[in-house]
Amino acid sequence: MNKKRVELIKGDITSLDVDAIVNAANNSLLGGGGVDGAIHEAAGPDLLIECKRLNGCETGHAKITDGFRLKAKHVIHTVGPVWYGGYHDEHSLLASCYQSSLAIAKEKKIKTLAFPGISTGAYGFPKDLAALIAVNETKRFLTKNVYPEKVIFVTYGDDSYETYRKLLDQ
Ligand code: ADP
Repeated sequence: MNKKRVELIKGDITSLDVDAIVNAANNSLLGGGGVDGAIHEAAGPDLLIECKRLNGCETGHAKITDGFRLKAKHVIHTVGPVWYGGYHDEHSLLASCYQSSLAIAKEKKIKTLAFPGISTGAYGFPKDLAALIAVNETKRFLTKNVYPEKVIFVTYGDDSYETYRKLLDQ
């Protein structure tokens, strides 16, 4: 895989000028705290109206909406697993979040896609393991597919940046 197809940045995902940002949503898709709250705040009330029509989303799956007032044209909402110690399918459900989001990006011919650390906030997934899953699933997908052309991992207010940096340098 061409290394230029994966980027790493620190910052607020809601400010990115990309084709799509991924939201770490909950099963209701009706907004919440963390990055979900920030995305709804920045996108404006029309995002909630569109989300209400989607009838929620299962854990490990993903659904796409418009980006409304965001610079990003679309939001892909995925629902990560809550971490219950690692013996409740958390690993495969988180992998499925990345696979499902990337599959939607492929279908919609999205060129640039940005991910926050799904499940690594309120849902308590260990950050190092989450980063490993994120990078592995993304690399695997990009090797086989033309879209998305570029994936950006966005780290926010913690030390995940170095974790991702090491994984991406391998
Ligand atoms: P979850 O419920 O899936 O754990 P959270 O929103 O609580 O989702 O956290 C997911 C990750 O998103 C955390 O690593 C958190 O630091 C990060 N995050 C929170 N706000 C933003 C933001 N504005 N931009 C990018 N990442 C963010």
